[in-house]
Amino acid sequence: MADKADPFSTAFGIPVGDDQNSMTAGERGPVLIQDVHLLEKLGHFDRERIPERVVHAKGAGAGGYFEVTADVTRFTKAKFLSTVGKKTDVFVRFSTVGGEKGSADAERDPRGFAVKFYTEDGNYDLVGNNTPVFFIRDPLKFPDFIHTQKRNPATNCKDPDMFWDFLSLTPESIHQVTILFSDRGTPASYRHMNGYGSHTFKWYNEAGKHCWVQYHFKTDQKIKNITREEAEAMRSKDPDHATRDLFQSIAKGEFPSWTLEMQILTPEQAKGFKWDIFDITKIWPHSEVPPVTVGRLVLNRNPENYFAEVEQAAFCPGNLVPGIAASPDKMLQARLFSYHDTHIHRLGPNYHLIPVNTPKHAPEHSYQRDGFMRTDANGGSGPNYWPNSFGGPAPDASAIEPSFDVTGDAGRFPFQFPNDDFIQAGNLYRKVMNEKDRANLVGNIASHLGGAHKRIQLRQTALFFKADRGYGERVAAALGLDLKQVERLAGMSNDDRRIATSETVYT
Ligand code: NDP
Repeated sequence: MADKADPFSTAFGIPVGDDQNSMTAGERGPVLIQDVHLLEKLGHFDRERIPERVVHAKGAGAGGYFEVTADVTRFTKAKFLSTVGKKTDVFVRFSTVGGEKGSADAERDPRGFAVKFYTEDGNYDLVGNNTPVFFIRDPLKFPDFIHTQKRNPATNCKDPDMFWDFLSLTPESIHQVTILFSDRGTPASYRHMNGYGSHTFKWYNEAGKHCWVQYHFKTDQKIKNITREEAEAMRSKDPDHATRDLFQSIAKGEFPSWTLEMQILTPEQAKGFKWDIFDITKIWPHSEVPPVTVGRLVLNRNPENYFAEVEQAAFCPGNLVPGIAASPDKMLQARLFSYHDTHIHRLGPNYHLIPVNTPKHAPEHSYQRDGFMRTDANGGSGPNYWPNSFGGPAPDASAIEPSFDVTGDAGRFPFQFPNDDFIQAGNLYRKVMNEKDRANLVGNIASHLGGAHKRIQLRQTALFFKADRGYGERVAAALGLDLKQVERLAGMSNDDRRIATSETVYT
């Protein structure tokens, strides 16, 4: 913050003598264009807003560190994970997904959980959510899915018909829908929820041997949710409750922390695994792949300036350091492109020069030059091409990901086992939830799905029925639906169900 004694100046350091009275022609006359201080002030104000994120627009962030607590060097050569006790600076941004920048923190929505590790091998971004799965598993569906969570093109209001029409025609969403409509869909705060990498990632060690991994940041504050009624009240009482909670906790010295647990599968284990490990709508059961504790994430520093650090923070799943690589998960593959693309749109091609995004411990040495807002020395007088013989930075072959086998015909392939889509959602309902969880889940669904057309209610309830008969029966009862119709729809293929409940057929 500027010292109180610092003189007030324009953006260009020119002293400002009066910031209260615009320059006019005569005491009561029009304002002069000669008042360049006024023009600069208005011109900057007019441009204060940058495009808000198309998803995850509302967020809060904090800095801290990640500490390694177990030896994982047999799995990965990532330097920041190389020694027990090693600490790495991080910046974390939490968010809701569908709402605009001014929307309420207590909306029912997944929560973003994005971690930027400032490692000595450059920035590593793990861009996760508070749920281990996602609604869809093919990126071609992503823009459509997000449209349905936003506003109706005609009314500009949120629309339960759009929301449920799409989900009920996308059966692989049932697992994530069940989590979202449990009370975990309205966490009490950002401190009281878990973070998951959600995708499967590849780790590889010094010898080039790889394994497949999933990240789980388990909250040390314990899971705490609020009910639908409490969330409704919170949205009007304090739309920024989670943002405020994070800031105030850290300001008081109550630093939130998370324990990082990893699920790790060798390629041999992966071959015989019951679930498609690259299908983001599925988890790896803990009983089959027990999580191992590898570290701790602590947030102990509030941003000094929200816009500088949180609004301009840009995370990209493509920022992977040696020892960590992408998997063939189709959603991850698309995210490798889409996040960087979005940041270029929002922040410009040199967004990596914004301090929160700059690699703190591994300065950029590339041949990229110029572009809007190139605020550093732009490579100075050094060469701007490779190869060169003038001492420019040279690639280091040890940073190359080990080659891997890819076979098969190019094509557009659906996932293999669509019937499996209901098993894990059913397990969650039957085995993990207690009676209160189930009652709240059904109430939460009914209060939202009840706003959609009846034919859409029936189609979606058929999916709950397919996950678990009792689950479907309870939702049908809560909505006053005819169970026989639900059961009949549950017995159909997805396409037949769509046709049987389409606007032109259903009466
Ligand atoms: P486990 O009994 O070993 O684990 C259950 C998991 O479910 C725990 O991680 C728990 O998280 C979490 N959980 C508890 N309540 C809810 C809820 N309302 N919504 C979402 N997650 C919840 O079982 P399995 O590993 O065999 O998995 C069974 C089901 O649990 C899965 O089908 C999935 O729906 C859910 N689940 C599984 C996870 C996994 O990675 N295996 C992760 C999260 C959910 P916590 O310990 O923090 O309370």
